[in-house]
Amino acid sequence: MNKAIIIGGGLAGTEAALQLAKRQINVDLYEMRPEKTTGAHSTGDLGELVCSNSLGSNDVNSASGLLKEELRRLGSFLIEFADETAVPAGSALAADRTLFAEKVTSAINDNPYINLIKKEITHIPTDTPVIVASGPLTSELLTQEIIKFTGTDNFYFFDAIAPIVEKDSINFEKAFWANRYNKGETSYINCPMDKEEYEIFYEKLINSPVIELKDFEKNAKFFESCLPVEVLGKRGKDTLRYGPLKPVGLIDERTNKQNYAVVQLRQDNKAATLYNLVGFQTNLKWSAQKELIKCIPGLENAEIVRYGVMHRNTFIHSPSILTPGLQTHKRNDLFFAGQITGVEGYTESIATGLLAGINASRLIEKKEILILEPVSMLGALCSYIAHPEHKKFQPVNSNWGIIEPLEIKLKGRKNKDEKKKLCSERALSYINLLRGS
Ligand SMILES: Cc1cc2nc3c(=O)[nH]c(=O)nc-3n(C[C@H](O)[C@H](O)[C@H](O)COP(=O)(O)OP(=O)(O)OC[C@H]3O[C@@H](n4cnc5c(N)ncnc54)[C@H](O)[C@@H]3O)c2cc1C
Repeated sequence: MNKAIIIGGGLAGTEAALQLAKRQINVDLYEMRPEKTTGAHSTGDLGELVCSNSLGSNDVNSASGLLKEELRRLGSFLIEFADETAVPAGSALAADRTLFAEKVTSAINDNPYINLIKKEITHIPTDTPVIVASGPLTSELLTQEIIKFTGTDNFYFFDAIAPIVEKDSINFEKAFWANRYNKGETSYINCPMDKEEYEIFYEKLINSPVIELKDFEKNAKFFESCLPVEVLGKRGKDTLRYGPLKPVGLIDERTNKQNYAVVQLRQDNKAATLYNLVGFQTNLKWSAQKELIKCIPGLENAEIVRYGVMHRNTFIHSPSILTPGLQTHKRNDLFFAGQITGVEGYTESIATGLLAGINASRLIEKKEILILEPVSMLGALCSYIAHPEHKKFQPVNSNWGIIEPLEIKLKGRKNKDEKKKLCSERALSYINLLRGS
């Protein structure tokens, strides 16, 4: 049957619907708003930007800017609408949110291949190819259905994320490699603090501003083992030294001493270019996180590729559920797209919507599913979320740490910009080859 069903008329769902329609495939697009709302959306429009109106950098030599340029070249409708409704925002692409949502809504309403059905879907249809794009605030009944499909252990309700930094930006004159009690192959980076450094860090931590929770998140219960560092810090000056910052069993071979406190960093990606701060989930404002991380010895110049966040965010454990083509392993005509796959951000959601739409149409047309190489930012995102070795999976946005490293080695901070430029050129040449897929 030449038809697909899409659940969710947000960023990913509408992009996917327009991609299918462009390939002359009929779509039933289900959107529950305005009858039933998510708590974060405030209109009944399709493609509503729930918070900021910025889609991130437009600079093609930045990770987010590269992803946008790839999307433009692959024919993304929503990036085109954002370009058409752009407002001045320096090097970022920011849209007039009302005009943007109006454009998305009319493109869907006016498209003869798309049948928009304003209704909550409470089960995953089984007799037609489906794209689930119901977002981070998927309705309760559908959530239960998705859990039935994925299993409880493969579904998450909240983000409790620690910041991630680039390894190349860590100062190893201060940081040292060691595992607690020397157990296993050495894999942790440790940032040591003496008493004075800890006290400075502690004062900054407990006095830093936090991001206000939204009403629908206020009843959210965070697991005791996932409490934000600022909450633990407020329980007492030494709580962190007996918790995530405990120094016991961590000996710096250079001094043969145990420190007063230690911030540990754990490898975050296979290429070992990214490290996350262990047990450091936080809800501090991003500017405050930046300041706090800077005062950790060894992280003075840390490049933060993602900040800690704590908010309601339903997402699946994509590494065990999805292929890099966004198809589920269990059922090849069921795709997931958008934030529910564990990508984070407006542009990333649009990007996975585009790929899911293209691949659902390829499935219907009996063509090979498109798996993008990780030399492109979109390919890197999809291969990151679908990588079966991610045990502790946390959502990710576009960043240079996930893209396939260049074959040539360019060392040093000065060459960093050159590296990004070369990666960007390589990605766009690859994407140019795919145009018309
Ligand atoms: C509060 C909040 C603020 C955010 N702020 C930003 C930000 O500033 N910048 C940024 O880049 N990213 C932000 N994000 C992250 C993310 O980029 C956005 O959530 C983005 O909208 C995700 O796109 P999506 O298509 O996956 O989901 P959505 O855009 O949320 O679309 C999903 C759609 O599915 C519908 N739906 C849900 N369940 C059903 C059902 N059972 N039946 C039918 N329809 C259903 C919903 O009503 C919704 O319209 C934020 C997320 C949240 C939760």
